[in-house]
Amino acid sequence: MATVSEVMASLDAIAPQHLCMEGDPRGLLVGDPQAEVARLVVCLDVTPAVAEHARAVGARMIVSHHPLIYNPLKRILASEPHPGGVVLSCIKSDIAVACAHTNWDIAEGGVNDVLAGLLGLRNVRPVQTTYREPLLNVTVYVPAEDSEAVWNEMANAGAGHLTGLNYDRCGFWSEGMGTFRPLPGAEPYKGQVGTVARVDEYRIESITPAQKVPAVLAAMRKIHPYEEVAYNVFPLSNTGKEFGLGRVGELPEMLLPAQLRDRIQSALDFDAVRLVGPADKPIRTVAVGGGACAFLMPDAMKQGADALITSDIRHHEYMDAESRGFVLVDAGHAQTETPGARELASRLRAALPDISVDFVD
Ligand SMILES: [Zn+2]
Repeated sequence: MATVSEVMASLDAIAPQHLCMEGDPRGLLVGDPQAEVARLVVCLDVTPAVAEHARAVGARMIVSHHPLIYNPLKRILASEPHPGGVVLSCIKSDIAVACAHTNWDIAEGGVNDVLAGLLGLRNVRPVQTTYREPLLNVTVYVPAEDSEAVWNEMANAGAGHLTGLNYDRCGFWSEGMGTFRPLPGAEPYKGQVGTVARVDEYRIESITPAQKVPAVLAAMRKIHPYEEVAYNVFPLSNTGKEFGLGRVGELPEMLLPAQLRDRIQSALDFDAVRLVGPADKPIRTVAVGGGACAFLMPDAMKQGADALITSDIRHHEYMDAESRGFVLVDAGHAQTETPGARELASRLRAALPDISVDFVD
């Protein structure tokens, strides 16, 4: 058993909400964060059938890729099948609903990494950067004898570990002397009220992703022995890991467009893949964008892609690709995103061993 908010914490660790595109619904959309969940349903879309399945099996929460409430609802009526009727039936059956949409497209290991993996792409990187991890310098002053313990807790909370780097607990220590005078009312760890204290201290600094700083500061305050802790947090102009939409990478071997189509059809188990572009173009570098991502074509070309695999391609986008000699592939909206939604279920299953997680197609 877990609470809805515990499920949300796991979901946020897998598909961080700060990676969402601006204006995209995110997180918990329906339900009570304190409610208990023994069974969770994961799906691509919260259709009436998925909601009914959740109710029938006693699942108290649904996590979908596509947001159930995408546009603000002006009314919630049982007579409207989707989304109003589904929202109403979830509320009546006490089923919480959350989503991980563009954050799961962008996150490491998400929809687009899964697609890239299914095609065997190598040297995979984002097509369009949407987020550069902001970094902060966190500096704290600690009595020498407590410095190991304080730093240990800060590093456990993520201080000095930039996302994606193979180094953690990175810091810089300098020795010095701290001074302070406790005033009446103080209960100093060192020194006496009314007397200037001089203490051997370390100044410990680290570069830390901004998202982790609240946890690092909380861990530091919890163990730091001083009544009033001296620390600085300041922004840096340099940034950490880049995250983005789509993925681009190299195929293990050169393919012609028809061979690429066959490869996609078997990888996605879908036999209606459509493509435009020169039939004799050798394809080595491929971009993927699960769902409707034809807008990534200019960025994909800039990254050296010979082809873009996405869905919901419009006539003028096909025309545009054709005129540029670019191979544009429509591999189906659900077909390009379902493997990622299935992966989300696996990740939640691994993160939440106390609850059962079903994937519903
Ligand atoms: Zn989609």
